Amino acid sequence: MKYCQVVGVRNLADAVGVHCTHEAIDLCFDCGIHVCASHAESCHICKETFCATCLTFHQRGRLSLAKPVRNKGAENERPPNRCRAVATPT
Ligand SMILES: [Zn+2]
Ligand SMILES: [Zn+2]
Ligand SMILES: [Zn+2]
Repeated sequence: MKYCQVVGVRNLADAVGVHCTHEAIDLCFDCGIHVCASHAESCHICKETFCATCLTFHQRGRLSLAKPVRNKGAENERPPNRCRAVATPT
């Protein structure tokens, strides 16, 4: 049985972080850690499961990381690279 690997740091007093001990139900699509039902976040656009941290970066198009800036006007009209806005019919 796999357990959630999310390290919860919810307030400043909890700086060290505590591993969640709930049973994992899925994997984070981005970093691959196991996530439990309460920590699994899904992207409403591409329907993948992420941990909260990765979902934040995913939906922001990873703006906090190095991002090539070419044409600002055109870039803003497109969804983030990692987020496939086109839903695949299942
Ligand atoms: Zn993750
Ligand atoms: Zn958890
Ligand atoms: Zn997405």
